[in-house]
Amino acid sequence: MSLRPILIHPDPRLKTQAAPIEAVTDQIRTLAEDMLETMYDAPGIGLAAPQIGVMSRIIVMDAVKDEGVAPRPMALLNPEIIWSSEDRKIAEEGCLSIPEQYAEVERPAEVEVRWLGLDGEMHQERFDGLWAVCVQHEIDHLDGRLFIDYLKPLKRQMITRKMQKLKREKARG
Ligand SMILES: [Zn+2]
Repeated sequence: MSLRPILIHPDPRLKTQAAPIEAVTDQIRTLAEDMLETMYDAPGIGLAAPQIGVMSRIIVMDAVKDEGVAPRPMALLNPEIIWSSEDRKIAEEGCLSIPEQYAEVERPAEVEVRWLGLDGEMHQERFDGLWAVCVQHEIDHLDGRLFIDYLKPLKRQMITRKMQKLKREKARG
């Protein structure tokens, strides 16, 4: 297993649609392990493959927050939202590709997701609370969409400029 560098917005790969995964191979299993390790190390509760420059439809997440509750690392291949609640909820979101920037985003409160597991089987589950926010945020990444795309243009531009400055500073070292 190894840590993978996380791309920082703006980056064209973060605006690109990712391709479906054809089969669960050893390469995909290693990718999922690397993504989970990278996510926990960051630390974050979700990570999508495009964020490490891999343009495949795979996300990992673990939205267990409470201490004393066992972690639940999940890897979802080709995840698809097959049902969304009419009930919507506003939650504060952040993103490992947009460090230290947070904003409120409104999304369906509950979603039902179908995906291919690393076990080669199809899975289906309904998510609510933080899990629902996380899975929708990560699936957005697979379609080249970031949480700041839901914000008003002015706020989005402000965050983008901050990220450009951060990237310039990082490049200088
Ligand atoms: Zn994100």
